Amino acid sequence: MARYTGPVCRICRREGEKLYLKGEKCVTKCTLDRRASKPGQHGAARGRKASGYALQLREKQKVRKTYGVLERQFKRHFNEAARRAGKTSDNLIQLLEMRMDNIVYRFGFADSRAQARQLVTHGHFRLNGRKLDIPSAMVKAGDEITVRPQSRDTEYFKARTLLLAQKGVPSWLRIDPDTLTGRVLAAPTPQDLELPFNEQLVVEFYQR
Ligand code: SF4
Repeated sequence: MARYTGPVCRICRREGEKLYLKGEKCVTKCTLDRRASKPGQHGAARGRKASGYALQLREKQKVRKTYGVLERQFKRHFNEAARRAGKTSDNLIQLLEMRMDNIVYRFGFADSRAQARQLVTHGHFRLNGRKLDIPSAMVKAGDEITVRPQSRDTEYFKARTLLLAQKGVPSWLRIDPDTLTGRVLAAPTPQDLELPFNEQLVVEFYQR
C-alpha cells in the first residue's frame, strides 16, 4: 500500500496549522513554532485571498492528512458516508475514527496515527481474538482490541502499560492497561470528538 514518505512537518506547514502527526514531538518541539512559512520556493511570499474552492480543498487535505489516508481511500470513505443515513460530514468523521489504525492511536497504544498504522501492519493486535494487520479495517461498537501475547513482552509494550495507566481514553472507549486490552463502547459522536475541522467544507468539495 502506497503512503506518503516525505517530510511530515511539511504537511503542517502547508496547511498552516499543527496537525499533530508526530506524537510527543508535536507538543515539545514543534517545527511550526520555529518555521511557520508555507513550504516551497515562494512559500513566504504567498498571501493571496483564497477562493471558495481553495478553502474546500485545503480543509479536505487537512482532514485526510490528519488521519493519514490516501486520496482514493478517503474518497471511498466519503462515498460510504454519503450513502449512509444522517449527516454526511458526521458520518465521514465517524468512519475515519472507526478505522483500526485510528482506534489503536485513540487507545494510546501509539503516539501518532502513523505509528499506530505501523504497529497494526506489523501484526501486534487482535480484533475480537483474531489477528488483524489491516490499518483501514473498520471497527464496530462492542469490538475488543488486544495486544497479541507474543508482543506483550516486548520493551515497547511493557513501557506502554505504564503510560496507559497514567493516560485516559475518550469516553466512548475503555482500556485495561494491565491486559493491554481496549473495548469500543460506541461509535463517537461529533460532541465526543470536538475536532478542529470544518467537515462541511469537505462535503462541499466532493459535491461541487
Ligand atoms: Fe506538525 Fe508535529 Fe511537525 Fe509540529 S512537530 S509541524 S505539529 S508534525
